[in-house]
Amino acid sequence: MSASQSLRRFQIIAVLALGMCFFTGCTSMTTTVVGMSVEDRPIECQRIGFGRDTVLILATIHGNEAAGTPLVSRLAEHLEENPKLLKGRKVVIIPVANPDGYVHNSRFNVNGVDLNRNFPADNFDASQRHGAYALCEPESRAIKAVLDKFKPSRIVSIHQPVACIDYDGPAAELAAAMGQRTNLPVKRIGSRPGSLGSYAGLTLNTPIITFELPATASSMDRESLWNAYGESLIAAIRYPDGA
Ligand SMILES: [Zn+2]
Repeated sequence: MSASQSLRRFQIIAVLALGMCFFTGCTSMTTTVVGMSVEDRPIECQRIGFGRDTVLILATIHGNEAAGTPLVSRLAEHLEENPKLLKGRKVVIIPVANPDGYVHNSRFNVNGVDLNRNFPADNFDASQRHGAYALCEPESRAIKAVLDKFKPSRIVSIHQPVACIDYDGPAAELAAAMGQRTNLPVKRIGSRPGSLGSYAGLTLNTPIITFELPATASSMDRESLWNAYGESLIAAIRYPDGA
């Protein structure tokens, strides 16, 4: 085969692949590093699908609330196996938003800052625990960069141990849709200063769910987590398409 023939063949395959992506959703996952932690661990971001509608799901912004990390790993696998779920949308996953806290089993980053109080929400409240100023920590800056890049239409942040579906911003219906598919009650905890919920929900007006798994989720294996909470995450991805 000549060089021009093989180029032509490559072009045809590329066009077919793009066409498949467009009509059926596309499952190929790309992983990028969106920032580094204080101790120089990469903060990874996975993108699955190419559609306009974007769902951001992040786990383990509190390093000692880590059950969300195996859960989103199982979710990514499910999405790759079920490309129809990606038709018209993409799912962006941050599997470990606080990698140093995850390694040290700590709520905080290694500067002792609660990353979920370090966002530039209108209610940001500077302190040692919240940070001297909004986005003073590299981890919160990395998450903010993902928000800026993808402009998600809804967000799910996975925590423990309160065992409820909390929400901020215009997310009451989204919370209800998720609540129909798991045994966690929908319950508003109230907006914390400088939290991702306050920033995304109140300042940006983006629906955001704080998906609070129970403490017992820490001792559940990946498959049990998926059986208990997977359908609820799928409901968030499919929203507002019901049933
Ligand atoms: Zn938490």
